[in-house]
Amino acid sequence: MNDKILLVEDEPQIAGFISRGLRREGYNVIQATDGETGLELAFGELPDLVILDVMLPGIDGLNVCRRIREGELQVPILMLTAKDAIPDKVAGLEAGADDYMVKPFAFEELLARVRALRRRRAPIESDAPLTFADLTLSPTTRMAHRGQRNVELTAKEYDLLELFMRHPNQVLTRDQIYDRIWGYDFGGESNIIEVYIRYLRSKLEAEGETRLLHTIRGVGYALRES
Ligand code: CA
Repeated sequence: MNDKILLVEDEPQIAGFISRGLRREGYNVIQATDGETGLELAFGELPDLVILDVMLPGIDGLNVCRRIREGELQVPILMLTAKDAIPDKVAGLEAGADDYMVKPFAFEELLARVRALRRRRAPIESDAPLTFADLTLSPTTRMAHRGQRNVELTAKEYDLLELFMRHPNQVLTRDQIYDRIWGYDFGGESNIIEVYIRYLRSKLEAEGETRLLHTIRGVGYALRES
């Protein structure tokens, strides 16, 4: 599936220049022109990367960045600013940004940074074991354990559980789950998510363990302890 990039930039010309270029490279670009919408999309759409302008109407880029980190989203953040000033760069990195670019820049330069951030991210995402309560998931072996018990998962079950493990205590909507695990093709009428959630629950609760995958009525599902 194509990487989803959230672009938060209020200047239409720059936003257009960046989004057109990224789409041409095959990225799925979602856009916001102010900080508040940027935050909503960051938490609602779970992008793979955020490109964030510092100077924004409303909540500025530094505060958007801080709130993304306070909300424990691990997404890589590339900050943009028009000001070529060292204090701004330091502030951006202190706020939790991963990289920083000064406007104006050539698109190729941006693309190189985007690719580097995705590469830097990838090994972290694929290697470190994920834990939640007594549940452990190992991305290298694609094995799950509930306490000491080994839980055998199919490929899709694993992908679905990994998505929840990467976003613990967060409600994932049906659309987000479709998008991440199956792509858009399935459409909204399929009950495939329900079916897979049922499979996962029966395996994760096979010995009477407490429920970790909860239905949030009318919204979606969440991995949480109660
Ligand atoms: Ca701006």
